[in-house]
Amino acid sequence: MLTGRRFRVEFTDAQAEFAERIGAACRAVWNTGLEQRREYRRRGAWMNYQPQAKELAEAKTEHPWLKDVPGHCLQQTLMDLDRACREHGTWRVRWRAGRRWSPSFRFPEGSKMAVDKLNRRHGRIKLPKLGWVKFRASRSLDGETIRSATLTREGRYWVLSVLVDDGRRAPEAHQVPGSAVGVDRGVATAIATSAGALFDRQFATNGERRRALALQRKLSRTAKGSANRAKTRAALAGVRARERRRRLDFCAQTAHRLTATNATVVIEDLKTKQMTKSAKGTIDQPGRRVAAKSGLNRAILGKGWHQFALALASAARYTGTAVVKVPAAYTSQRCSLCGHMDPKSRESQAVFRCTQCARAEHADVNAAKNILAAGLAVTACEDQPRPAGRARSSTQEPAGNREELLLQPTAASAA
Ligand SMILES: [Zn+2]
Repeated sequence: MLTGRRFRVEFTDAQAEFAERIGAACRAVWNTGLEQRREYRRRGAWMNYQPQAKELAEAKTEHPWLKDVPGHCLQQTLMDLDRACREHGTWRVRWRAGRRWSPSFRFPEGSKMAVDKLNRRHGRIKLPKLGWVKFRASRSLDGETIRSATLTREGRYWVLSVLVDDGRRAPEAHQVPGSAVGVDRGVATAIATSAGALFDRQFATNGERRRALALQRKLSRTAKGSANRAKTRAALAGVRARERRRRLDFCAQTAHRLTATNATVVIEDLKTKQMTKSAKGTIDQPGRRVAAKSGLNRAILGKGWHQFALALASAARYTGTAVVKVPAAYTSQRCSLCGHMDPKSRESQAVFRCTQCARAEHADVNAAKNILAAGLAVTACEDQPRPAGRARSSTQEPAGNREELLLQPTAASAA
């Protein structure tokens, strides 16, 4: 199965400088390509990958800085642009601004890449024009076929993301047939299950939160374009990246635990994008309770709901678990025992006390039980049994081979 592996890169100074240049060239190609596509759209015409790739090849003879960097990375950038424009429409694809976009580029043809073990802690991979790149071998790549390698700068560090085929097959059926669990993703507790288990983790220490706040204040005081501003921004990105890595780990580990023991996992079909839309509104129709909404947004995004759904889909491929999504409506207001529905039953964020049968329970566990019941009702209605591992859903599932999904750390790499 295809999966992603992430390693921290240890560049030499020359390599780090060169990597920045490759990133800048890819950014220029993206922006030029996007401008050209928009120009064509204005005239009612379309621009595609093939002619753009041809023009890129011609531009290389004129501009040595384009010839200098690996041609494959530039081509991959044009392919990504092509895909983005097809998926989202030319006008909704964003520019890659120097301040906002952190450099990232991909080398295809992974089968030609040589990987060496340097010592117990380090490995190296040979990449076109960059040469041997040293990385921290936090796990082995033995027996895995490399498909592509991507270098991305996250804060001050460069990360190597390798897309590999790990040679494992999807199981015919789950080890524990018939087992099922409902999962509620909450704001107070990250993840609660219908079996009564609560999973949560603090992603940033109090010290880190204070430091992030101090850095943010400092950033607002620094002059635009100054070296001090760039330094502060990098430090802030570093703090955020650490938090993000912990969140990914938590999602991967929890997803692994749930899929290993359950043939069916039912989750709410949360539209995180819609839920976290800004409450600000427009000038004509200003939004209400803006501060409260933005606080909830931060809490929702902070718990990594979307990442958890992705991690679950990724882990489910290995165990043959079916992931079922059900509509989220009223799961937190209904009593899972007697079925009585009353918003007043939700005594507080954490406590559910039924106004009819007076049963008290953790609010998120009660919701998880409702989600499980809804999911089992959906699966019982299905006429045709589907192959194991295929996610069943009334809405569209994320495509199995999306890079975002594949570059999730698997449980093994997170442990
Ligand atoms: Zn009740």
